[in-house]
Amino acid sequence: MSRFKICLDPTYTTLPASLFSKLSPTPVSEPKLIIYNQNLADELGLDLGNISEKERTHFLSGNRVPEGTTPFAQAYAGHQFGNFTVLGDGRAIVLGEFLSPAGQRFDLQLKGSGRTPYSRGGDGRAAVGPMLREYIISEAMHALGVPTTRSLAVVSTGETVYRETPLPGAILSRTASSHIRVGTFEFTSLLEDKTITEKLLHYLIERHFPEIKEKENQPLALLEAVIYQQAELITHWMRVGFIHGVMNTDNMALSGETIDYGPCAFMDSFAPDTVFSSIDHKGRYAYANQPYIAQWNIARLAESLLPLMPGKKEEVIEEAEALLNSFEPVYKTMWLSMMGSKLGLADPQKEDEKLITDLLDWMHKVKADFTNTFHQLGKAELSENELFKTDRFESWHTRWRKRLKKEPQGLDSSLSLMGTVNPAVIPRNHKVEEALTAAEQGDIEPFKRLLQAIEQPYEDGDHLLPYQAQPKQTEKVYQTFCGT
Ligand code: AMP
Ligand code: MG
Repeated sequence: MSRFKICLDPTYTTLPASLFSKLSPTPVSEPKLIIYNQNLADELGLDLGNISEKERTHFLSGNRVPEGTTPFAQAYAGHQFGNFTVLGDGRAIVLGEFLSPAGQRFDLQLKGSGRTPYSRGGDGRAAVGPMLREYIISEAMHALGVPTTRSLAVVSTGETVYRETPLPGAILSRTASSHIRVGTFEFTSLLEDKTITEKLLHYLIERHFPEIKEKENQPLALLEAVIYQQAELITHWMRVGFIHGVMNTDNMALSGETIDYGPCAFMDSFAPDTVFSSIDHKGRYAYANQPYIAQWNIARLAESLLPLMPGKKEEVIEEAEALLNSFEPVYKTMWLSMMGSKLGLADPQKEDEKLITDLLDWMHKVKADFTNTFHQLGKAELSENELFKTDRFESWHTRWRKRLKKEPQGLDSSLSLMGTVNPAVIPRNHKVEEALTAAEQGDIEPFKRLLQAIEQPYEDGDHLLPYQAQPKQTEKVYQTFCGT
């Protein structure tokens, strides 16, 4: 126990004991701070500034648990690639919860902190590469305006983890609005005691959906709220060309944040069937499938909530099904509005859809870069791009410009709208891999430069040039790995 004080009182442990296991992280031999997110610490009011770096490193490695802290691992289940499994935090421990200066509650979790009762055959550990990948992608997502868990630090452990090859071990500290997943409800529905699901539901509503507290049919109201929440999240992913890679139900957080960055990556050339994950053989979690998978996952949540819904079973199922079917039109409306904004249309209508899909079809055909194409379209003068010099593109461009003339606020307003939704830079996979490889060999500088480049992704500048180019043929990354 350390004498250093930080208030991490958890509310989660007031839930039934079957939902978690209290235990401390397993100490590591030689923790070293690789990267620390001072901005995040300041933003969330995590006051770790007045302790020595040594003490802070011990805290962020799990070696010292502050007095009065009761860390715990969460139980959950999940559908992994469609197959149901009982899971839980096998290599993560929530140190506790804290309130930000704005009064928002956050979990502080260590990932890679040792074995837990849910580790199954795993070693409970994580490697430097995948933890830095989560750090940079989650911070990039935040900067891009996408709801996400955040990364506070990565500490190397001085220990080796054995995957296909021996790798340097690491622990990531992440902050999250909570870690309640679709899979947490799937776990409670296994317990054959619906009061546990009920308690979890009330806890979730209290923490994330206070507006439905007064609703008569709370499970149904929650389902509806989650449909909007997840449709919005996926719309953001589609906007920035993000592919999560492992949208298992245990990786869908009911806070509405993107969570569990494994083999995720951003798309370079536009192709709806893009998949990076080495284990996604059938393309289940491909770019264009993400909204359908979100709906599928919410259906698993609905199944877990059915026993709590008042009324006759058949009627309840019918009602839940009708609600689930609303995901598609809800998402479609959000998608149209988002894609419209990427083309400078403040209020796109159904008839604008063809303009959007024609552009996407062309981009797919000529393998145009997703980020750069929209970014270049947003400039007053069309950029020098060989791909733009074709009849097919020119005729689309003329149509688009004609449509823009109908925008009531004028061209400048359209271009500035585009500037707020079309990033100038994303963490391209080849740049991420390059930075991670250097970091694994002890050089963190390329990682820090990449981090700096993606901090303000909507502000263009020459300093971004090395990060904006598409990968050369030899630099292309076709597969990403979980590294678990
Ligand atoms: P993920 O793919 O990271 O979402 O993990 C899926 C499940 O496997 C979760 O229950 C994790 O806690 C567990 N897991 C992943 N890696 C390990 C590991 N090295 N040791 C123990 N459990 C793990
Ligand atoms: Mg996970």
